[in-house]
Amino acid sequence: QGQKQEPSRKLACCGVPLITEDMQSLAIRTLSGTDINKHYDLIRELGKGTYGKVDLVSHKSTGTKMALKFVNKNKTKLKNFLREFSITNTLSSSPFIIKVFDVVFETEDCYVFAQEYAPGGDLFDIIPPQVGLPEDMVKRCVQQLGLALDYMHSKSLVHRDIKPENVLLFDRDCRRVKLADFGMTRKVGCRVKRISGTIPYTAPEVCQAGRAEGFAVDTSIDVWAFGVLIFCVLTGNFPWEAAAASDTFFEEFVRWQKGRLAGLPSQWRRFTDSALRMFQRLLALDPEKRLRPDGRGAPPALLPLPQT
Ligand code: AMP
Repeated sequence: QGQKQEPSRKLACCGVPLITEDMQSLAIRTLSGTDINKHYDLIRELGKGTYGKVDLVSHKSTGTKMALKFVNKNKTKLKNFLREFSITNTLSSSPFIIKVFDVVFETEDCYVFAQEYAPGGDLFDIIPPQVGLPEDMVKRCVQQLGLALDYMHSKSLVHRDIKPENVLLFDRDCRRVKLADFGMTRKVGCRVKRISGTIPYTAPEVCQAGRAEGFAVDTSIDVWAFGVLIFCVLTGNFPWEAAAASDTFFEEFVRWQKGRLAGLPSQWRRFTDSALRMFQRLLALDPEKRLRPDGRGAPPALLPLPQT
């Protein structure tokens, strides 16, 4: 008993360790390819990446369709796989977050868990390039995602990979959308290394963080990414390649945010004043000043209306 760790010491700051550590002490069932075929019919592959793949399958005895996420063992440690599963499971009580089934197993090469199937695919796939989605669709989407983010943030969890590819659709009109992919999610305050390479959704303070010292995770990085996501779905373009001084589009945006630009940067001219106020607050350069994702404290009707 004397050797047992205090719960407070077990609670490292990253992830949801109590659940993860409890689960790690359980053996995960090992299934062979034949076992999988015994229980599931493969319908098609839904997605693929360096991490592994996602297959749409049908559970043979119940007929339930599910998305099986296969994570390569040579890319992800068991601890990280279990963290992703347990965080998704914890957050599944929100109607705006993808649900997991009680199915976790390993094969020779992969760790696997099952999620509910989103028949509309992901948000990225339906954005017409250089055009963007109709405003009413974007509003529906943004409202639901704002609630998903607010729910996560209320539990001190930061998604860290907000982008349209991680928004799953249950219909093509975005009446029901859910946030997915919690592989990078960490607790607020957890120190992480800056990932190599930035993407257009990466917040400027993360782009600036040195590789060696890293930075402390904060909900404001999701709020920034959410602002960039809204710009992307409305326009079909990225506002910049990277939120770094070397990017001329970002540099112009910074000057506008600081009131040092006479007019608006060209790619922002299509928005109404209320939409611009929303962007100014989601994309505040100072993380402390960023808007909360549910828009609380913001004036009403912040979303863009077409300018006539
Ligand atoms: P992920 O690595 O989990 O983001 O999955 C990669 C891609 O697979 C996503 O961008 C989706 O297009 C697809 N996908 C993942 N999970 C699901 C799901 N539950 N339902 C439908 N498609 C999915």
